[in-house]
Amino acid sequence: MTISFDLDDTLIPTTFKFDVEEQNFLQRVFKIENIRKGSLELFKELEKRKIKVNIYTTSYRSKARIKIMFMSYGIKVDKIINQQEHNKFVKIQSSKFPPMFNIDIHIDDSVGVKMEGEKYNFKTIIISKESHNWVEEIIKKIN
Ligand SMILES: [Mg+2]
Repeated sequence: MTISFDLDDTLIPTTFKFDVEEQNFLQRVFKIENIRKGSLELFKELEKRKIKVNIYTTSYRSKARIKIMFMSYGIKVDKIINQQEHNKFVKIQSSKFPPMFNIDIHIDDSVGVKMEGEKYNFKTIIISKESHNWVEEIIKKIN
């Protein structure tokens, strides 16, 4: 199984300041972006279950930058789809279209993406920015 994660306001605080994982000295020096508290635990659980993790973001961050960011936290990301990649392959009017990249479930904060999933027939898990037990919510739904 392959699942993908949105970045802004799902894993990375952008418009909403949720609690974040602690950073080490080098991460602070290199101004690595903060990730949501619980991410480390969640990715460990996914790895245990042999679930592949992709990042699917509508931001223009470069793939290298995203890869390095997750690596610095010890998180292995299988594939990264950014806006450039999305534009290259997806020709329908949908901000995200995970089936194009062999993704089984996409996790996002946006209700708009949930509606796209209903319209274009792909599975989503929508996580509120305010949720404190988002990790449990995801694990429960994946099981
Ligand atoms: Mg988002």
